[in-house]
Amino acid sequence: MDSFDFIVIGAGSSGCAAAGRLSENGAHSVLLLEAGGRDRNPWIHVPAGYAKIYANPALTWGYATEPSPGLNGRVVFTPSGRVLGGSSSINGLVYIRGQREDFDAWRRDGAEGWGYDDVLPYFRKSEAQQHGADAFHGADGPLSVSDAAGRDELCRAFVESATAAGFGFNRDFNGAGQEGFGYFQVTTRNGRRVSSATAFLSSTRNRRNLDIRCSAEVDHIIVRDGRACEVAYAAGELLTHVRARRAIVLCAGGINSPAILQRSGIGRGEWLRAAGIDVVHDLAGVGSNLHDHVQARLALRSRRLPTLNSALRSVGGKLGMALQYALFRRGPLACAAGQAGGFARSRPGLERPDVMFIYLPFSSADYRKGLDPFSGFSVSASQLRPESRGEVRVASADRRQAPMIQPNFLTAEIDRATLLRALRLARRVLSSDPIRSEIAREERPGVDVESDDELLAYVRETAASIYHPVGTCRMGGGPDAVVDPRLRVHGLDGLVVADASIMPSIVSGPTNATAIMIGEKAAALLLG
Ligand SMILES: Cc1cc2nc3c(=O)[nH]c(=O)nc-3n(C[C@H](O)[C@H](O)[C@H](O)COP(=O)(O)OP(=O)(O)OC[C@H]3O[C@@H](n4cnc5c(N)ncnc54)[C@H](O)[C@@H]3O)c2cc1C
Repeated sequence: MDSFDFIVIGAGSSGCAAAGRLSENGAHSVLLLEAGGRDRNPWIHVPAGYAKIYANPALTWGYATEPSPGLNGRVVFTPSGRVLGGSSSINGLVYIRGQREDFDAWRRDGAEGWGYDDVLPYFRKSEAQQHGADAFHGADGPLSVSDAAGRDELCRAFVESATAAGFGFNRDFNGAGQEGFGYFQVTTRNGRRVSSATAFLSSTRNRRNLDIRCSAEVDHIIVRDGRACEVAYAAGELLTHVRARRAIVLCAGGINSPAILQRSGIGRGEWLRAAGIDVVHDLAGVGSNLHDHVQARLALRSRRLPTLNSALRSVGGKLGMALQYALFRRGPLACAAGQAGGFARSRPGLERPDVMFIYLPFSSADYRKGLDPFSGFSVSASQLRPESRGEVRVASADRRQAPMIQPNFLTAEIDRATLLRALRLARRVLSSDPIRSEIAREERPGVDVESDDELLAYVRETAASIYHPVGTCRMGGGPDAVVDPRLRVHGLDGLVVADASIMPSIVSGPTNATAIMIGEKAAALLLG
């Protein structure tokens, strides 16, 4: 059996950072196991290729939730990358870290060493900031962070209208404060996506101590005498066993990390027995505390300005876009899904923003079915720190059976109320000039949908995840915690979880930057 110092499971945002850093000094042998294939699909590397890949069954796990009681029993599409780079290879590229208070709350709740001042050095370490280093940003890391390309006129009008409506302009959402509206930064370099794989693995080709095995789906982890020591993975039909001398580092993401633990007999005894799995280590929190950002969108018809909808409708438009991108790495193909947005307090008396807005240069009733047949754009509104909690549970030990995902979206009253306030704030921005004069009408839900009941009915019928599942292997103390602040699974030796699943509570913003920070810090903790 092959053996390694560290076996990292999952080459996603966290896993690539962890494996890259663990193998950097050449002193340790590292095996990185990834269920998906290499990141060869060309659309992965084109920012606007997002639309072509995020639902592609060859590149994603293609999960869906159980019927969601807060969303009229709808099943919600839950993509997650299954390819080198994981979700960072298919995501919307927006780079946001969250708020200082998010991390300080983690530390207060038992995650010693994870307060904002503790994690900032790891964010800075990863980063290659386009505008250079300062107190908040790093310039020497492998992860390029650049201004979002291709701001169109509507995008600029949106940001100007937000400031006209009194929200304030923010130059740097990852700087001193998050509040205000402005332009996003994204993980791109020279008009191409920078995934965690591009950032942390592309320089490792000649590293003989790092073995990267793709199309290697981990079945389970083997525990002997209280120590996790082996990993069984499927390459084709056969299971291969590999041994870890120092640690197994589980980085399979918010859905699959708890699923792998449960398949290995590590989890809540009652759930495991119900799935026909022998209990190896009874750990109640595995798979609980699932939460995610929910978005509701307003779709607007543009009065005169073209949007991505119109550009994509004509052959000439598509050709022009392709040429612009091929020759100059500019134009709509160089655009990430989210170009601009903002963070605001949805009611007086709050100490910090509780809602987020994203301007999207296109509109669609269902992205998987195509864009609207008119020049449209959208504004997405979401609550930053939802309180609804759900769970991830495997139904059996068979890895080919998808886990049951029940996020219980919008079951907490405060989540519903905050989302409705967010939609009203979005309308306030849209009814301010200059964007107001550019809107022919609000297509969805339409201005007639006005009362709380009507708006809530719209939300229940249309709201969706923004694909940030976290919390299912919660870090901290207490009966529901899965890992300690050094990311070691409580009660076992040799097993660490390091990915979005360890967030005790979701950060105030998209989760990729934080997942990468977690991989960075995990490697430092393991090497330290
Ligand atoms: C469509 C989409 C859009 C998003 N947009 C943004 C955005 O714009 N900005 C932002 O900040 N965040 C965004 N996110 C969220 C962000 O990308 C994720 O939070 C982050 O990538 C999670 O990192 P992770 O390492 O926890 O998991 P992942 O990056 O998902 O990595 C997990 C890896 O483990 C592998 N794996 C799983 N199970 C196994 C197994 N059994 N064996 C071997 N390997 C396995 C997976 O294939 C995957 O490669 C988006 C996510 C999605 C899906």
